[in-house]
Amino acid sequence: MTIVNAIIIGAGASGLFAAAEEGRRGLFVVVLERTATIGNKIRVSGGGRCNFTNLNVTADNYISGNPSFCKSALAGFTPYDFIQMVESYGVRYYEKEQGQLFCRASSGEIIAMLRKRCEEAGVRIISNTKVHDISKRGDVFVTTTDNGTFHSKSLVIATGGISYPQLGATPFGYRIAGQFGLNVKPTHPALVPLVFNSEDGANLTMLAGISIEAAVSCNGRVFRGGVLFTQRGLSGPPILQASSYWRAGDYISINLFPDANAYEFLLSRRKHKQELYNILEFPKNFARRWCELNSYMKPINQYNEKELKEIADNLQHWRLWPAKTEGYKRAEAVTGGVDTEELSSKTMEAKSVKGLYFTGEVVDVTGQLGGYNLHWAWASGYACGRHMQP
Ligand SMILES: Cc1cc2nc3c(=O)[nH]c(=O)nc-3n(C[C@H](O)[C@H](O)[C@H](O)COP(=O)(O)OP(=O)(O)OC[C@H]3O[C@@H](n4cnc5c(N)ncnc54)[C@H](O)[C@@H]3O)c2cc1C
Repeated sequence: MTIVNAIIIGAGASGLFAAAEEGRRGLFVVVLERTATIGNKIRVSGGGRCNFTNLNVTADNYISGNPSFCKSALAGFTPYDFIQMVESYGVRYYEKEQGQLFCRASSGEIIAMLRKRCEEAGVRIISNTKVHDISKRGDVFVTTTDNGTFHSKSLVIATGGISYPQLGATPFGYRIAGQFGLNVKPTHPALVPLVFNSEDGANLTMLAGISIEAAVSCNGRVFRGGVLFTQRGLSGPPILQASSYWRAGDYISINLFPDANAYEFLLSRRKHKQELYNILEFPKNFARRWCELNSYMKPINQYNEKELKEIADNLQHWRLWPAKTEGYKRAEAVTGGVDTEELSSKTMEAKSVKGLYFTGEVVDVTGQLGGYNLHWAWASGYACGRHMQP
């Protein structure tokens, strides 16, 4: 019976990254992946160009039961460490906006880089291998798959979150955490479009395809960018961001005047004889529909100051109560997962189970939109890979 140093379950961003680090330290590492291919989420990430990190990574960009948990791993592996790595493998990249770094050619280059690093480090990757069960006999982990049984001193669960099950995601990591007595925080879809309630659906689907620059708030967080109206609800960067903080029954507030005082704007035009919707500097269909729904269908010079104040307030705090999110199938991430209280922030090892590690999205650390989730996958994988006991 061969006992390898580490079995890593999941050949996604975090599993591959941890594997290469462990292999480089001379550990004998085997990665088991249930699908036929590796790095499936990396391939589709960033619209096929992989937003692989963000220059502005800080702990504030993450949602977690313990917001400080990610600090140690983020300090141990920074965006500049990853940039140095991609440069040394000849991957060309560019900054899109707000520190977001994307591949120039395609996300396949990041997958190729990870594969090469694993090869160089002697890591064995076995795909088409679904792990069914784990047990621990003495100090040895026994991993049972549909492709044989594996024995290891350490076990890394890098099975990701449960979003996009079509790409291989499973709740397996949560089940294993539970089996070893570790707490798992409830999960929710994150970075996901929101679905209108039935009334808004009837009123607003005609706006599908229109995008409005706005600031969207939800539960105390504010995000700026283009709000996109769809057939079923709302999408676009600030909506995806807000969705990570949204829970059933909550409202979102849309500020349609994110850079100006709406009341001063209206006052400056109050002598005009045009309809209000012709004054508002939005796409015409949107301006008209918004005014119709709020019964503001008069020329602006027919409103008194009190009414203009109310209109301005509505423009800057337009509240909508979504019915739900589009769910895990369309979520780029999940909130919740293996409770950080159960893990060492330095090594990602379970405090109560020697040799058992959790890295990446399976852990209760969720990044905002902008390359933060992949950066967490690298940083947590690196922490595990660097500190794992041989
Ligand atoms: C459409 C989309 C776009 C995204 N774009 C970005 C982006 O541009 N930037 C960014 O930072 N983040 C992005 N993300 C999020 C990011 O891809 C994930 O957070 C990251 O890939 C998580 O890495 P991971 O290694 O933890 O898990 P994953 O990459 O999900 O890897 C987990 C692996 O485990 C395997 N697995 C699961 N169960 C088993 C089992 N029982 N046996 C064997 N194998 C198993 C799965 O098949 C999978 O390959 C995007 C996500 C999606 C869905």
